Amino acid sequence: AAKETGEPYRHWSPALDERAGEHARLGAEMRAALLAGDFRVVYQPIVAMPEGRVTAVEALVRWQHPQRGLISPAQFVPVAERNGLIVDLGAWILRTACEQLVAWRAALGPDAPDRVSVNVSARQLARPQFPATVADILISTGLPARCLTVEVTETAVFGGGQAVTALHALRALGVRIALDDFGTGHSSLGLLHTVPVDVLKVDKSFVDRVTEAGRHAVIARALIQVSDGLGLTAVAEGVETREQVEALYALGYRLLQGYHFGRPEAAPDFRPRVHAVEA
Ligand code: C2E
Ligand code: CA
Ligand code: CA
Ligand code: CA
Repeated sequence: AAKETGEPYRHWSPALDERAGEHARLGAEMRAALLAGDFRVVYQPIVAMPEGRVTAVEALVRWQHPQRGLISPAQFVPVAERNGLIVDLGAWILRTACEQLVAWRAALGPDAPDRVSVNVSARQLARPQFPATVADILISTGLPARCLTVEVTETAVFGGGQAVTALHALRALGVRIALDDFGTGHSSLGLLHTVPVDVLKVDKSFVDRVTEAGRHAVIARALIQVSDGLGLTAVAEGVETREQVEALYALGYRLLQGYHFGRPEAAPDFRPRVHAVEA
């Protein structure tokens, strides 16, 4: 595995050894869990201000482990990326999310969210077959391509190559591309020249302190200006308080996501939320 990922050799230590053992165990259990149907997809609302409509949802994976209970993706997604299972797991997540939006559209009509946003890892994007897999899922579920957004991190597309080729192919299908955790990666602004992007997801770290008069608020302001200036859509992530909603709205953010509006859930509430912001 060290060879494959190009990770430098590390000296043995008990802690590392334990972690490696834990990863190996998790990795072995994951394929079985995928077959056993122990993964779930939950959906967090993305809300349009000021009217409070849920215009989109972000799909987030969960592992319902029969013994260990609910396992966070922060624990198992990195392991799945390393052992390659993210390719099959990711395809299952994409299909499940697309099927779910088709079901909501049938049940709710215009009250269904317009789009579902699905996280895609570097490892998935690097496979030349990936755009064909997405096309296949769209055709077999019947979801229009414009209803799907893929979320990729700056790190996954940094350096160009196959990942950027894949994004162009997805764009050609009509799928939207969101740059996740924007502002925290390598070369944020330079990347916007080379990578086809529709949506910037402004990282929670800027949202956290947007109400304080400091550098985070300055950066949040700069990021919405870049987004507007390039004709992109900005989504502010990790919005937890009403004060943040108001500060973000005042800066020009119109799409917000975070616990303030709703946690990720199997069946979120799509009624308009909230928030007479001063328009
Ligand atoms: P992410 O894509 O940046 O997803 C946002 C994370 O922030 C989610 O954590 C979400 O539950 C959490 N979050 C949303 N609003 C708030 C808030 O107001 N406050 C706080 N404290 N947290 C908030 P989650 O679901 O645990 O996912 C963690 C990360 O795991 C994701 O970060 C993403 O990188 C990865 N991940 C999750 N699902 C998938 C998936 O289906 N595929 C892939 N490749 N990665 C996934
Ligand atoms: Ca995301
Ligand atoms: Ca994010
Ligand atoms: Ca993140």
